[in-house]
Amino acid sequence: MTTFLRMSQLYAPTLKETPSDAELVSHQLLLRAGFMRKSATGMYSYLPLGYRVIKKVENIVREEMDAIGSQEILMPILQPAELWHESGRWDDYGPELMRMVDRHERSMCLGPTHEEIITALVRNELRSYKQLPCSLYQIQDKFRDEIRPRFGLMRSREFVMKDAYSFHDSQESLEQTYADMSHAYERICERLCLDYRPVQADSGQIGGSVTCEYHALAPAGEAELVSCSCGYAANTEVAESSPQPTEFPETELRKVETPNVHTIAELAEFLECPESSTVKAMLGKDEDGKPVVLFVPGDYELNELKAQRSVPGYTLMDDEEIEAAGLPKGSIGSVGLPEGVRIGADRSLQNIEHWVVGANEDGYHYVGAKQGRDFTVDFWADLSTAQEGNACPECGKPMTLTRGIEVAQVFQLGTKYSETMGAVYSDEDGVDKPFIMGCYGVGISRSMQAVAEQHNDEYGLIWPASIAPAHVCVLPLTVGDDEVQPAAEKLAADLAEIGLEVVLDDRDERPGVKFAEADLIGWPLQIIVGKRGLANGEYEMKNRRTGEKFAMSFADFDEALELARQDRTPADEWLRNTAGVGGIDEIESI
Ligand code: ATP
Ligand code: MG
Repeated sequence: MTTFLRMSQLYAPTLKETPSDAELVSHQLLLRAGFMRKSATGMYSYLPLGYRVIKKVENIVREEMDAIGSQEILMPILQPAELWHESGRWDDYGPELMRMVDRHERSMCLGPTHEEIITALVRNELRSYKQLPCSLYQIQDKFRDEIRPRFGLMRSREFVMKDAYSFHDSQESLEQTYADMSHAYERICERLCLDYRPVQADSGQIGGSVTCEYHALAPAGEAELVSCSCGYAANTEVAESSPQPTEFPETELRKVETPNVHTIAELAEFLECPESSTVKAMLGKDEDGKPVVLFVPGDYELNELKAQRSVPGYTLMDDEEIEAAGLPKGSIGSVGLPEGVRIGADRSLQNIEHWVVGANEDGYHYVGAKQGRDFTVDFWADLSTAQEGNACPECGKPMTLTRGIEVAQVFQLGTKYSETMGAVYSDEDGVDKPFIMGCYGVGISRSMQAVAEQHNDEYGLIWPASIAPAHVCVLPLTVGDDEVQPAAEKLAADLAEIGLEVVLDDRDERPGVKFAEADLIGWPLQIIVGKRGLANGEYEMKNRRTGEKFAMSFADFDEALELARQDRTPADEWLRNTAGVGGIDEIESI
């Protein structure tokens, strides 16, 4: 028997007040509308509404993975340290890896990703080139001890991820699967009704060289992206920047007293020059703890990820460390640095001859500091963060800056794990060769919140029909009424029968309360059943997204139901045809 949900029984505690520790609107709404609750820092429980959405996102991902021939498996969350020693990541991964010791004093970790486990899983049994390519995936909780868990499901310590891994005997075969995965990810984003963008990215802890991130565009996103009308788009962690530092008019080295100057803006104002004539210094240390000063044009920021690519292990020094190195925090410069401090500078600074920099003495700066004469740069690199208006590296046109939520990422790993972990197949000539691998992740729980971040208004959430906790909410205006209640019950049952997910608000609440909650939860379609409508022989419908209300006569409605029964029209198509809810229009309307 097809059934429907009853609001009177649904466990969905709503909140009147906006939770004070939730900054993002999506986080606030998911809490207020009773989709989830925080259990501890970075850890959430999904309540029935939230879990229904999670499962729908999972199913979309599952369908798209199955469609490209990836096979679902399930690996353990708990992983032995030995495998991580084999790959070398036990040491490389850092404090984000949740580590523990079992009763036999064996080191373990909770999986943040599963390259080690899967490589060990296939290494003795996927043996022949004839079995390749092979693609496997799982959907499961991942653990990362994030330094700043925040924004609800966006950056949590336990979260749901789909992770897929592929094994190949040639680069071409890897590229084929990588392209299939990329297309699958595009379809996933479309089915989730996300306004998204694939962007060039950094491969971070996972490794490999070719990678692409999928970002849901949102002003609240943590990632900064640059994009160009020619189609180029990249995370600013990798996008080449194109600063244009300007020459300061003095060419002789001159020390200037700069009292009360602490920022670049203050320095530029004091010297009556643009910020682009000044040079900003950031003191950090390399993996051995040795000091490295990095310089970028005054009007740009140092990009820490780019810095780490030039100086492995680069981290900024804190105030104490700077003091211990014998340097003044506010006035670090390139002239007269203590012995042993390495100097790296943004490539763009090669375009100016004379720098305006700190004098390594509180309250003083140098103007006219000439590289080669007054100081020597040890290495040049792309170190600054790209900005709005920077030249597109592909066509030269000015780029625009947007923000995004990374929902997914695909990687060509190469042989990083198969080589270190000895995972080989035998080729046509019987020669053992390491697998060429790829890996592909979708943040399921983060995606759910990304949809909520893009689809809401002042009244609450607006779920796309594809992942809504239910498609239709039937709202009887009076409960216990001889006429209205049975009519609403019958309507809910009829709709459920043709395959729609239906919730009946059978609570004895004022209509205003029911309407407000239906809007807050964000069911795509509301059907209102009242005495007047029944007398007129019609239902009142409301499209949550457009707010549009329209009446539908019983006759038309019955006809539509009958059609659905005969044609076996899929529920989403029925919704679209009958009530204008769902489908591709939703993507176009964002
Ligand atoms: P980020 O840069 O945001 O920390 P990541 O690049 O480290 O993410 P991946 O290793 O690429 O993440 O993981 C695959 C996907 O898992 C990400 O695209 C994202 O959607 C999701 N994800 C990663 N970390 C978290 C987290 N802390 N909370 C929720 N989802 C996450
Ligand atoms: Mg990523």
